[in-house]
Amino acid sequence: MYIDGEFTHGENGAMLDSVDPVSGEVWARIPHGTAGDVSRAVEAAHRAFTQGEWPAYTPSARGALLRRIGDLVAEHADWLAYVEQRDNGKLIAELSMQMRYMANYYYYYGGLADKMEGSVIPTDKSGVFNYTKYEPLGVVACITPWNSPLPLASMKIAPALAAGNTVVCKPSEFTSASLLELAKLFDLAGAPKGIFNVVTGLGAEVGDALISHPYVERIAFTGGPEAGRIINEKAARLMKRVTLELGGKSPNIVFEDADLDQAVKGAIAGIFAASGQTCVAGSRLLVQDSIHDAFVEKLLDIVGGARFGHPADPRTQIAPISTAPQLEKVKAYVDIALKDGARLVLGGRPASVPECPKGLFFQPTIFVDVDNSMRIAQEEVFGPVLSIIRFKDEDDAVRIANDIQFGLAAGIWTQSITRAFAMANRVRAGTVWVNNYRSTSVTSPFGGFKMSGVGRECGIAGMREYMEIKSVWISTETNIPNPFVRR
Ligand code: NAD
Repeated sequence: MYIDGEFTHGENGAMLDSVDPVSGEVWARIPHGTAGDVSRAVEAAHRAFTQGEWPAYTPSARGALLRRIGDLVAEHADWLAYVEQRDNGKLIAELSMQMRYMANYYYYYGGLADKMEGSVIPTDKSGVFNYTKYEPLGVVACITPWNSPLPLASMKIAPALAAGNTVVCKPSEFTSASLLELAKLFDLAGAPKGIFNVVTGLGAEVGDALISHPYVERIAFTGGPEAGRIINEKAARLMKRVTLELGGKSPNIVFEDADLDQAVKGAIAGIFAASGQTCVAGSRLLVQDSIHDAFVEKLLDIVGGARFGHPADPRTQIAPISTAPQLEKVKAYVDIALKDGARLVLGGRPASVPECPKGLFFQPTIFVDVDNSMRIAQEEVFGPVLSIIRFKDEDDAVRIANDIQFGLAAGIWTQSITRAFAMANRVRAGTVWVNNYRSTSVTSPFGGFKMSGVGRECGIAGMREYMEIKSVWISTETNIPNPFVRR
């Protein structure tokens, strides 16, 4: 772990295994942190926030430090990609791109650090001058899942530090290695001790101790809705601020006037990238009646030929499922869908891949005749399982798209500009893509409506989550007026 600028095995020295989902073997061992380790990390972060070098850093100096970290991330991108690939089995092609892009989180928020301007407010009171300013909160707890460990952590760490906070991160117990590698880069960059800490371990132990610690002011969480709800409830009792990025069951809607070849590619990218283990997965494909059969045929043609293989091989198109419990969850949902009457037209079983005999592979799976009320349409699988649902017209598409507890993202495929705007307005989701799927940028706010979350990450909105706004009143009069007369 990385606590107060030192690498440590933690107070009791116990370790957890990290399993490579391709070989099925333990490839790394990470400290099994305790509540005591959390206390040490949070106290270090609190000390760093209240005394020493960090509070004396100007916003511009914080920006310079973050840009240095961005440079180091860019320089070590291949290594970070390798470490994540061993931990979660994602395709190296995708990870290399993600890790290179990740430097931008540090550059963007480094740039924003000295641009969070307050205002001078013209008020209805005389004799006083009022202005606002943004201030950091204190210690921020970052808790992240296994599907995109470093990018999801960086989305929190970079704005939190740019704003002047200090952080304690708890990565997923399945994929902790890459965040510890990032800690080495903070060390190399000469970051002040205690501003960035990593405590590894289990959610119910380390995660729970972290969110409950009285010095933690804000919790930035990405993960599943169950853990999200527990954290939100605890945070409410302790009056802590939260950002929750939870799951989704996003509709990807194809109208009859779409460019169908483009829409097929968008449907595939929507659900089969990262083997469906992404929060924005377009796992409900809504297809207009008139083109339904032709569209499904096109889809099956391409997906049926997708290539399994070792994720380190750049030719591989389908990566394994990242963890054994997740593979079990995917299998269970296929059984549920079949029992509920969905019709399986592709996949549905684990895949055997000769070059990776112990790999946790699952076939790309497609169900048709799915009704939106079925569990396979309402619940997040977080795997390569696509549910295809028919719709009649625009109103029907909107009704189905919004008839769900989630609201993270949506895709719309149409060549009509009028329909594009209308649908973008009517679909209840934090992100809407028209004629593309999955575009994201550090510059644009990302987050969910409804059960998909609370708050936003990325963009200027993402930075504001880590700051309090303070309103300051300065008297411009030499004589304070009579206190018994109301102003
Ligand atoms: P998870 O919710 O089980 O775990 C996420 C993190 O929370 C882990 O670090 C875990 O140790 C910790 N945790 C678990 N229980 C906790 C508790 N009681 N107190 C404190 N911490 C706790 O999720 P996962 O299985 O690692 O990841 C998959 C889920 O994440 C999916 O549901 C997916 O949709 C979601 N996700 C969302 C986004 C997004 O941006 N919206 C991005 C990626 C993943």
